[in-house]
Amino acid sequence: MTLVEFLQRRIAQVETVAQAAMQTPGAAHWQWVDGETDEVIKVDPFVDVDLTLSLRSVEELHTYDWGGGGALPDFVIHTAESIWAPAALHMTIHDPAFVLADCAGKRLIVDDHDGVHECTGPNLVSDPEHEDGTYGGPCNTLRALALPFADHPEFQSEWAIQADI
Ligand SMILES: [Zn+2]
Repeated sequence: MTLVEFLQRRIAQVETVAQAAMQTPGAAHWQWVDGETDEVIKVDPFVDVDLTLSLRSVEELHTYDWGGGGALPDFVIHTAESIWAPAALHMTIHDPAFVLADCAGKRLIVDDHDGVHECTGPNLVSDPEHEDGTYGGPCNTLRALALPFADHPEFQSEWAIQADI
């Protein structure tokens, strides 16, 4: 398996999970709402929110049949208490909308790397057929994209790259 194939599979896997996280297709943006008043709460990561919160989609695409029907958001977490504020913010920043856009951007990068391309690193080129350099394996751009998946069983140690984590 090439690093390009590995990344294509990981991106598709992350996308699948993000799509499945939406109870209603398209309900991709998440926000915290006061469960009592339905008021949108802007989470300050440095201030604990002492409310009964509900994590809901911004989009109101979910329909219900009782009482004539209507539109509702997805209720991702119906009722939450004692949510650690930074984690609450983290969850809304990494909602399905973000993850799907992130995957789309990364797929564009990976697709640009499926063959001969211009990236080079110190003393290496990415294409084994390139005549002007020494093949050093996948370029650092692809290695950097693979960083979050370094503990995947199919990850190959030669794809590793140093990074401050
Ligand atoms: Zn490259």
